[in-house]
Amino acid sequence: MNEADSQRVASALERLGYEPTPAPEAADVIVLNTCVVRQSAENKAYGRLSSLQPIKDRRPGVVINLMGCLVGIKNTDRLKSRFPLVDIFSPPSDPRPLIDYLTQTETRVLEEAGTERRFALMDGDLVLPAAERGQAVSAFIPVVYGCSHACTFCIIPFRRGVERSRPAQDVLSEARALVAQGVKEITLLGQIVDRYGKDIPEGPDLAGLLRQLAGIDGLERIRFLTSHPNWMTDELLDVVASEPKVCPHIEVPVQAGHDEVLANMKRGYTAEDYRRLVEKIRQRIPGVSIATDVIVGFPGETADQFQATYDLLAELKLDVAHLARYSSRPDTVATRRMVDDVPAAEKMRRFRELESLQEGIVTEIHARHLNRQVEVLFEEKVKGRWKGRTPTNKLVFVSSDENLRGQIRQVTITRTGPWSMQADLA
Ligand code: SF4
Repeated sequence: MNEADSQRVASALERLGYEPTPAPEAADVIVLNTCVVRQSAENKAYGRLSSLQPIKDRRPGVVINLMGCLVGIKNTDRLKSRFPLVDIFSPPSDPRPLIDYLTQTETRVLEEAGTERRFALMDGDLVLPAAERGQAVSAFIPVVYGCSHACTFCIIPFRRGVERSRPAQDVLSEARALVAQGVKEITLLGQIVDRYGKDIPEGPDLAGLLRQLAGIDGLERIRFLTSHPNWMTDELLDVVASEPKVCPHIEVPVQAGHDEVLANMKRGYTAEDYRRLVEKIRQRIPGVSIATDVIVGFPGETADQFQATYDLLAELKLDVAHLARYSSRPDTVATRRMVDDVPAAEKMRRFRELESLQEGIVTEIHARHLNRQVEVLFEEKVKGRWKGRTPTNKLVFVSSDENLRGQIRQVTITRTGPWSMQADLA
């Protein structure tokens, strides 16, 4: 979500006449887009912010914009006194405060100089910054902002606000613009992406939106994330199964494998519900890959409860497990009403256990691809090799002198490992 937001800010700044620079010391405007989903991410944001102080001291005219979840939807006043070096605070996914500030300042300067106003943000669909146009093969489109679910560990509803779907027309026109800029693959984003359209009575749901997007010429692949087990409809799964452009890859977090922990997290399903969902996804979408998220060390999680999570992952053998150690987040129910009682070392031990379990599972899944042909969309050259992904989102590297950027090619897998595969063009 932040990556998509940053691209839109960069593109808007370019329309105002700014150009990117790799060096913050040389910038007239610095945008720091922040994440606070875990304490470590928040600490990183503070570290970056203090690294900007010497620049602001040397050049007080530099405009510093703090954006994203550190700002949130209602934190601005508190932050103003805490970070006086920041000129503009922007909530997540909203570049307007910065753009308004720059246009107003620039207009004033021009008027004072007796020049007619010529500085305005044009309407249009230039989503990608100039450097990425014709280069980016894959792009994100946020379709649902915020979340109204309120899992007890999660700060996102407090910082990104209630759930709001974007009108389908906006999504479609952004997708067309991205395709015109060379993009071949689009990933639709939402905290619970399957809830797309629930707040727009006349609009399509996610399944309908995917069908409409699939009609765009030149768009080769469509993905969506993140799903919630309670909101995946059969119709959605059927669109994934039947629409060739929609990739057979589902990101659906389980978070824990023990019912008491799931209830404490207020996830709204049981481990058995999740097990049945995985079974259904696999039945309806042959060859599907499934990714999950897991939090270890949630308040009160006992060794036995953790073992239930371990056993569930060992049983389901999912393609990807994004693992996180629980960290207390302000405002959440878990922070206000529960005790963060699993010691840090024990959280790390549980994390490592799952990590090594998952490494074994993925090594086994990837090994099944050896000598098989798969289809890969190539994105970029990294250290002399072309990097691409299969429809199931598996990372594949190929050595080739051809320019493969943006091409979909058949490849034969020659080597596999836990994190990626190597292949030759078929
Ligand atoms: S559904 Fe996801 S974004 Fe929403 S509160 Fe739960 S974890 Fe956070």
